[in-house]
Amino acid sequence: MPSEIDIWQKIEKTCREIFELFNYREIRPPIFESTDLFSRSIGKETDIVSKEMYTFHDRSNRSLTLRPEATAPVVRAIIEDNLLQQNQQLKLYYQGPMFRYERQQAGRYRQFHQIGVEIFGSNNPLVDAEIIYMASKIFNKLNLNDLVININSVGDKNCRPNYINELKRYFEKNQRQVCHDCTKRLETNPLRILDCKNPTCQNVVKLAPKLKDSLCNECKMHFNRVISSLSKLNVNYQINDQLVRGLDYYTRTTFEVVSNQLGAQNAVCGGGRYDDLVEELGGKSTPATGFAIGLERVVEVMQKMSLQRGEDQGVKEIDLFIAAMGEEAQMIGFELLTKIREKGLTADQDYLGKSLKAQMKAADHLAAKYVYIIGEEELVKKTAILRNMKTAEQKEVAFDKLSEELHGLAN
Ligand code: AMP
Repeated sequence: MPSEIDIWQKIEKTCREIFELFNYREIRPPIFESTDLFSRSIGKETDIVSKEMYTFHDRSNRSLTLRPEATAPVVRAIIEDNLLQQNQQLKLYYQGPMFRYERQQAGRYRQFHQIGVEIFGSNNPLVDAEIIYMASKIFNKLNLNDLVININSVGDKNCRPNYINELKRYFEKNQRQVCHDCTKRLETNPLRILDCKNPTCQNVVKLAPKLKDSLCNECKMHFNRVISSLSKLNVNYQINDQLVRGLDYYTRTTFEVVSNQLGAQNAVCGGGRYDDLVEELGGKSTPATGFAIGLERVVEVMQKMSLQRGEDQGVKEIDLFIAAMGEEAQMIGFELLTKIREKGLTADQDYLGKSLKAQMKAADHLAAKYVYIIGEEELVKKTAILRNMKTAEQKEVAFDKLSEELHGLAN
């Protein structure tokens, strides 16, 4: 809605500026893809694929899905266009709507927007540190300083299977104490039990074997490099050994940025490494890492913070409003507006033929800094009153001097 669009644009602009500084290029993947792409990448047993996809058949009876996230579409696109062969280290960003048939609640929508990045080609832990640092830079620039970065390692295909078996054995022993969903997860996706929000499950999880104790040496070294690099960059983080995230493709580093200003859905950004996905989707083996920021939630935090700071929301000042009485005056106003806008100033007039009183009200509503009032007399004199709406000061300014006068006042 127009009243909140300034915040959206500020976030989008900040992200773009920071992405450019870190040498990312934009990619715009399609809104829908073959359903198969998502079930193969995100995982058949995840909530997203098993119950949240907007899937439909097109006129040729192909199964298509509105993208629930953009990593898989980006990977598909770069494999198809052979981008990885031309450029071994590829840094991309995207922005746009995503679709998940979620149970709607504050912070969970069926169409929502993400801005995200992906880096392909390097398994260096410095890359993980760089993107986490970049996310923290974005939030700092938006003045959101009380966010917390949670970080974990979910291991890789060498060490995770052993851990999952160990976890299964543990939960099988404690099956009666976990919720119905987790009993199902035990068969389909036991790792997800770790981040079940149900308090009884949480109690069982507390004593469960820890992923960090099962990591292989390579994964341990990788994780230690990531967190020591973050410390070097003065990024505050918390190790959270229950953080597993809702998509199956992650390997090693996973992270989430959470806000204490939001309710249950408190993550504003999530991401991690996915070293096997490119190969699984038919490309040559290419390590990769990335994150996605959820725009609706960042907007919500920013609105709350600006309310707490007592700032006006959604009010956008304009430099000048021309209150013109009658057709001829409106035409003069029309010409003057062109000159004023050429000077880079924001200006508008009323085309509805309202009374002077109603036009002054409109100027107030638009938070105009100045109003220029042209009536019949003014048309003869070629000069009119310029009124400062804040101080109520007025002065006569000739038509042909108006744009210079305003330009001077604005600078
Ligand atoms: P994910 O793609 O699940 O890793 O989510 C990344 C970020 O997108 C989350 O941290 C949220 O900020 C946001 N997000 C995910 N799902 C939704 C949703 N249904 N509604 C609003 N934001 C969402």
